[in-house]
Amino acid sequence: MAIIITEECINCGACEPECPNNAIYDPATAWRFSDGTELIGIIDLGDGDTLNTEETQAALSDEVYYIVPDKCTECVGFHDEPQCAAVCPVDCCVDDPDHRETKEELLNKKEFMHLV
Ligand code: SF4
Ligand code: SF4
Repeated sequence: MAIIITEECINCGACEPECPNNAIYDPATAWRFSDGTELIGIIDLGDGDTLNTEETQAALSDEVYYIVPDKCTECVGFHDEPQCAAVCPVDCCVDDPDHRETKEELLNKKEFMHLV
């Protein structure tokens, strides 16, 4: 399960530098798979689709900081607990019920982003 930032976010920015996957972005800022990962060029998403990791993707929120679910590993492989939730002063980094993954899937995601 990825972590999601709720509308309670006060845009303090404390979480962003703590993310080992660079999955957290400022409001209205475009994101890229290649930001903070080892991914370069075209990747196969495994379902027949491909994606250019260096291509900018539309921001997921224009109002508050946001987390890219495809880049969030709940910090698995790096830390014992989600670092964004640990530092957030208003506890608005919470489990995202729409993006549920097993620990093994999260570890595979981490390796996919950092060991290629
Ligand atoms: Fe980043 Fe970890 Fe927060 Fe996911 S849980 S957004 S990997 S700091
Ligand atoms: Fe928002 Fe919490 Fe991150 Fe601050 S630490 S930007 S309040 S999610």
